[in-house]
Amino acid sequence: MADLGTPKKTLEIINKYDFAFQKKFGQNFLIDANILDCIIDGANITKDDMVLEIGPGIGTMTQFLCERAREVVTVEIDKNLISILNDTLSSYDNVTIINEDILKVDIKKIAEEKNDGKPIKVVANLPYYITTPIIMGLFESHVPLESITIMVQKEVADRMQTGPGSKEYGALSLAVQYYSKAEVLVEVSPNCFIPRPKVGSSVIKLTLHKDERVNVNDEKLMFRLIRASFNQRRKTLSNGIKNSPELSYSREDVVEALKEMGLDENIRGEKLSLEEFAKLSDILGSR
Ligand code: SAM
Repeated sequence: MADLGTPKKTLEIINKYDFAFQKKFGQNFLIDANILDCIIDGANITKDDMVLEIGPGIGTMTQFLCERAREVVTVEIDKNLISILNDTLSSYDNVTIINEDILKVDIKKIAEEKNDGKPIKVVANLPYYITTPIIMGLFESHVPLESITIMVQKEVADRMQTGPGSKEYGALSLAVQYYSKAEVLVEVSPNCFIPRPKVGSSVIKLTLHKDERVNVNDEKLMFRLIRASFNQRRKTLSNGIKNSPELSYSREDVVEALKEMGLDENIRGEKLSLEEFAKLSDILGSR
């Protein structure tokens, strides 16, 4: 039975193993069973599902996942947590614990081995220092995914949902909106964690589009253009693209394409919608 998810039990485990929190791994453990229920319900986990969890900590959410899912694979970087996990998850036979950096794990292979290559669900209370690389990695490697339900910093959840013209708009907003539909399930106070983080958090669910929302001939090229324009936010889009080591277009190429689209040659990337980036990519890609 899931018996973690309270301050008392969490402190008991931490004291029993003399566990020292490591700031560099973004360790803030959830101690609120209501929030845990909300994540698991929101992720819509059933006994058909294989769930990948990123960063189980002492296994609090993992217990809840094991109760609901057919199979759980959980990846934890901190070797000091592995013996704790072996203890807190000992009564479950549907969990595999992997001691590895999630950014180095072949998730496609896991989905093949554990779910016959069918779409998996990702559920996590993410380590905030690598939120963006984790999400971009999941999207760009085309792991078969049904949904990603994650606790992130509130400001990052806002960034995922915002559109052109806002200060928060960037490569992450465009990637999230290209690949998925985003909805915030709940906002979470720092009091729901040990230790308390300095920032507020949100649980956001990204449901992958069955077909991409926007058609583009070369997705990779579009994301290179997007990265180039947001890496140099203060520059015009044409200069940002011209300066990108990932691309070989001249300023004139970009200005011509922008003209064809009816856009100002001095426009900045932050003003372009996803559809406009797709169009720009198709025009430049056909040159
Ligand atoms: N899931 C637990 C909970 O909700 O209480 C812990 C969440 S804590 C915010 C993030 C967890 O991710 C920590 O256990 C941390 O050690 C782990 N972690 C940090 N970097 C990681 C990485 N690169 N790969 C896998 N796990 C990582």
